Amino acid sequence: MECMKSINPTTGALIHSYAEHKAGEIQSILAATQNAWEQWRCVDYEVRATHLVRAAAVLRTHKEDYARLMTLEMGKIIAEARAEIEKCAWVCDFYAENAEGFLKDEIIETDASRSFVSFEPLGIILAVMPWNFPFWQVFRFAAPALMAGNAGILKHASNVSACSLAIEDVFREAGFPEHLFRSLLIPAWEVETVIRDKRVKAVTLTGSEAAGKSVASIAGQELKKSLLELGGSDPFIVLEDADINRCVRTATQARMINSGQSCIAAKRFIVVQPRLAEFEAAQTEILNRMRVGDPFVSDTEVGPLARLDLRDELHDQVLRTIEAGGRLLTGGNIIGGPGAFYQPTVITGVKKGMPLYHEESFGPVLAIIPVQDEEEAIRVANDSDFGLGGSIWTQDSKRGEVLARRIDSGAVFVNGMTKSDPRLPFGGIKKSGYGRELSHYGIKEFVNIKSIWIA
Ligand code: NAP
Repeated sequence: MECMKSINPTTGALIHSYAEHKAGEIQSILAATQNAWEQWRCVDYEVRATHLVRAAAVLRTHKEDYARLMTLEMGKIIAEARAEIEKCAWVCDFYAENAEGFLKDEIIETDASRSFVSFEPLGIILAVMPWNFPFWQVFRFAAPALMAGNAGILKHASNVSACSLAIEDVFREAGFPEHLFRSLLIPAWEVETVIRDKRVKAVTLTGSEAAGKSVASIAGQELKKSLLELGGSDPFIVLEDADINRCVRTATQARMINSGQSCIAAKRFIVVQPRLAEFEAAQTEILNRMRVGDPFVSDTEVGPLARLDLRDELHDQVLRTIEAGGRLLTGGNIIGGPGAFYQPTVITGVKKGMPLYHEESFGPVLAIIPVQDEEEAIRVANDSDFGLGGSIWTQDSKRGEVLARRIDSGAVFVNGMTKSDPRLPFGGIKKSGYGRELSHYGIKEFVNIKSIWIA
């Protein structure tokens, strides 16, 4: 029997193996979820909200267990894992409180005696999710989707099956109808069967460009809606009038969060010449001192990468960038041993044509692209296939705002690091995907926006 394996990235040891769901089991889960949805779609907002508030409470009650599970399966440092669970509870509370307002009927004056828009659930939504924020990625989809009256089927990344099952349990323990939210333990190739199933009405995927293209094309053939949250190579622009101390500290955090494995991590540090030397020196010093090690130890700052193959891929990008003329300031090597550890790395002199200028890097590697001035900084920022987030550093907030409007991305933060927040829409343009999660925009992605006209 085929099985999915969770490997501890800190030690290389096998944690669990799970039998994959077979074709018959997939069919019976879809049937049960469809039945649960038929009931759930008629439940009013107040009751749905009560359930979601209970899910938030379950998350808080078991915070330590869930945090430890994430750290065990994909290696994020334990403090960040705890914060992730808190954020999941927040998004549940947020939609419990606001969903009804976001989806209330919208009266529109026409020639009818009464006409309005009603926002109605679609049915089962398939969520294909990545391992990097194993709980957060799922809850930011599930909280609005369930509040809108939909059901959820989760296909999580194969290396975080224990998290996938734990999330299913959160909804069960919170008292949601049995089977309204189910996890399928299936390999990537089996996703096609699920998308093509008539009971599945739409699909959302967070992951790589390759997975996005495949899922979107199958959904397209079936004429089903898709939402894609893909990679990013966010610019972090340092202008000559930046508050350099704050900027340097935030730059490190923006790159190293989740050991560098975040779609909205700052990845291209675009620094104007007058600030270049001090920015390079400061980052080199900070990254040199960062404590890399066991993510369960409270003072560890950088854990392992989630898998050995991902660590090796990152190392290859670093080597190819150095070969192309990038100048290594610190790091640049695999850390030996059984775990998937990589040295915090700073490379400067990165230019067009080098891998770290164009490709997304998923790990503790900070690439500096020197530029002459503001105009070149904006040009370089936009010279990317991606368009997820971005950050600009200047003490002139008006200037920051003007420049923020010129960056081609789904979000720009002025004097702050790019982050997700339930109140703000989240998503990208270009090869970072399409559609939005979070806020009132996110909850309207998977609803039938229906016009009702009464003579
Ligand atoms: P990935 O390989 O694309 O995996 C993501 C999910 O897609 C997993 O569940 C995976 O299943 C599944 N999958 C892979 N190939 C598939 C295919 N051909 N058809 C259907 N499903 C498929 O991505 P990853 O390496 O795990 O995650 C890192 C990527 O996600 C990065 O590019 C990162 O920037 C992006 N990301 C984006 C956001 C955002 O919000 N924009 C957030 C987080 C991460 P298996 O595990 O079974 O292969």
